[in-house]
Amino acid sequence: MVILFLYGGVLLIIILLAIFFYSRSVQSRKNYTCPECGEQIQMEHMDVSHCNSCGAPLTRKYRD
Ligand SMILES: [Zn+2]
Repeated sequence: MVILFLYGGVLLIIILLAIFFYSRSVQSRKNYTCPECGEQIQMEHMDVSHCNSCGAPLTRKYRD
């Protein structure tokens, strides 16, 4: 029973951490649309220079 309780507590912490990091990654995520195939490409921290689907080069739009 104690082991189950500890396991549940660890699981809860992992879930909370996952939600925390997920919400952070969603905020910093950028959406790109491939000009060739229209594929929606999501990037988190690193920029992707080519489409994952068709390999077309992606032009980054600066909106700052
Ligand atoms: Zn593409």
